[in-house]
Amino acid sequence: MRLGLTHMGNLYVGIRGIASKVGCELVVTPPTTQLTLSLGVKYSPETVCLPFKLQLGNMIEALEMGADTLVMPGGPGPCRFGYYNKLHKMILHEMDYKFHLVTQERGIMHIIRSLTGGAPLQQVIDGFRFGIAKLNAIENLERLAHKMRAIERNRGEATRIFRESVKAIDETEDHKSFKQIRKEYEQKLTSLPTVESPAPLKIGITGEVFIVLDPFANMDIEIELGKLGVEVRRTLFIGDWVKLNPFIYKLGLREKDRSHRAALPYLARHVGGDGWQSVGEKVLHARDWDGLIHIEPFGCVPEIMARNIMPYTKEALPVLDIIFDEHTGRAGVINRLEAFVDMIRRKKRKRKVQVCA
Ligand code: SF4
Repeated sequence: MRLGLTHMGNLYVGIRGIASKVGCELVVTPPTTQLTLSLGVKYSPETVCLPFKLQLGNMIEALEMGADTLVMPGGPGPCRFGYYNKLHKMILHEMDYKFHLVTQERGIMHIIRSLTGGAPLQQVIDGFRFGIAKLNAIENLERLAHKMRAIERNRGEATRIFRESVKAIDETEDHKSFKQIRKEYEQKLTSLPTVESPAPLKIGITGEVFIVLDPFANMDIEIELGKLGVEVRRTLFIGDWVKLNPFIYKLGLREKDRSHRAALPYLARHVGGDGWQSVGEKVLHARDWDGLIHIEPFGCVPEIMARNIMPYTKEALPVLDIIFDEHTGRAGVINRLEAFVDMIRRKKRKRKVQVCA
């Protein structure tokens, strides 16, 4: 089997970790580039959301690179996600590509069984653990990079080290060297030279999951905020979905569960995608963050609902909305981030002067 993987942040490292342990012959992960976007835009319906277009572009590239099996996203819920894989499949078949399709909507066990091709259960469990461990390690390093970017003395160091760590973790094939690599990069990040002031602002990033997790889709928003001295508090991590401890689910301790509870006075049900969580994040963190950036693909229905509810919560927190599609320009995004950060800093300074007076 030659598995073609599409991108959503660093998820591919985890899946590649699993696949390498269960005997996939080749895993093809074409990087997301401007060409990916052009291909996706060319062959997708015009008004479909950006994640669909980027995924389609990635699929075309993977098939061109020799993949014969694709894992396609898609699932239940009141938004377009429900028909993603059917549409992807139709478009690719019309383009004459031949491939085997594994869809997520038949459950995680279906994906595992399809990809492992009858590998012994113990091998599958080991592979699954290894992939999840890789993913968790990367996400923990990412949290560290969010902190260090805001206070590092030499701009860009934390990003460089984090990118190196992703590559090293992706390439490692045994537990022992994986643990060493994880430790080594944690140390590298924590020992970066830092500045004392100004104190970093804490700004959350929430919104539609693909846009939040994928640096190409969100134009490296976390890196750009780090350059402005902002400690990013991202609300979505894949590791939160696949926690192996059942008590965390039962007790509702995940960020997602906490934000859903917080949103209840304003939105009491799932509206598809991550709209429910977006509302809750504002309410949940109104006291401990300085601001919130809400990002969404153009035309994303759940996030349109969230965007329209947020201004009416009694919990006050400055919110910046940014909508992404293939026409979004990086300079415009950076401009808005600078203005937002500047506004928050001024507000904070003013409050401090008032307290001292
Ligand atoms: S959540 Fe939004 S962007 Fe994602 S599939 Fe649904 S409508 Fe599209």
